[in-house]
Amino acid sequence: MRALQLVSDREVKVTDVEAPPPPGQGEVQLKIKVVALNHIDVWGWRGMAFAKRKLPMTVGAEASAEIAAIGPGVTGLKTGDLVAIYGAPTCGRCRACRDGRDNLCEHPRGVHGFHLDGYAREYANMPARNVIPAPEGIDDVAAALAPVTFGTSEHMLFDNAQLLPGETVLIHAGGSGIGTAAIQLAKKVGATVITTVGSDDKIDKCVELGADHVINYRSDRFEGAVRKLTKKVGVDVVFEHVGKDTWAGSMLSMRPGGRLVTCGSTSGISADTNLMMLFQRQLRLIGSFGCRMSNLVTVMEKMSKGVVRPVVDTEIEFGDLEPALARMENRKVFGKIIMRVNT
Ligand SMILES: [Zn+2]
Repeated sequence: MRALQLVSDREVKVTDVEAPPPPGQGEVQLKIKVVALNHIDVWGWRGMAFAKRKLPMTVGAEASAEIAAIGPGVTGLKTGDLVAIYGAPTCGRCRACRDGRDNLCEHPRGVHGFHLDGYAREYANMPARNVIPAPEGIDDVAAALAPVTFGTSEHMLFDNAQLLPGETVLIHAGGSGIGTAAIQLAKKVGATVITTVGSDDKIDKCVELGADHVINYRSDRFEGAVRKLTKKVGVDVVFEHVGKDTWAGSMLSMRPGGRLVTCGSTSGISADTNLMMLFQRQLRLIGSFGCRMSNLVTVMEKMSKGVVRPVVDTEIEFGDLEPALARMENRKVFGKIIMRVNT
């Protein structure tokens, strides 16, 4: 069967690999439908030094699939079901997993598509507990965007930053995959949304998704614009994933008692933090990675009710990954790049 594998840094190839055996105890066999690209794929492709992995490695961290076969002992799933696949093989037994906080699993083995073989392959066997059935009314593209794009954003905004109706949130890079998800999720709970973009052609698209104010950070200092828009008060919540380039401005954009939640650092992993500002203004800095299994359920429910929708930039052919990753690296996308594996 076909798989898309990273063979060395910045080199991805379509390869022929052995199909998986029938699913074992507690496993399901998945016919992968759609893979969605994320910044973690860009990091993997670049060869982040700290990632322990063995090459060649199948790429793809976020996907939907159809259940092709059921292993012994699996209940509640049947062949033909459309599912979203959780991004990491958590243990299911530790305290964090039992409490439903799977992304804090005490026995992490890595992230699929980054440390471990990912989903850009025709078939894969996975533990049944790591797949969540899609509700009626959503397709394989929407289900593919649940585990990382919508799940991460939902977990950041609501579990971690505890965003409330009536509050104001600053969402960085509104045209990115998680930006397009976060704008919609925040707006739909009744928050005021300020977002940043790097080119004017993304402004109207962010407004269409529900953004109240859009700042082009290349022509305007975003922290100054936020100060004006909030009448010198600042925002309640900052949704960070840019890192080095925006960190100082994000700190300045918060009102006293504000919360900054971050899940990424696309512009660089080190930034200075003014500690006096942190304690005097009683700011809260919250790290967030991945999501809980329950976030997949809630975001797919929201998609099935039309509360939020997937924003697709382009669909690429299986194997055309490198130009797509380069476009993401250069911020030339609005929403998600997706790749169909099986029809
Ligand atoms: Zn665990």
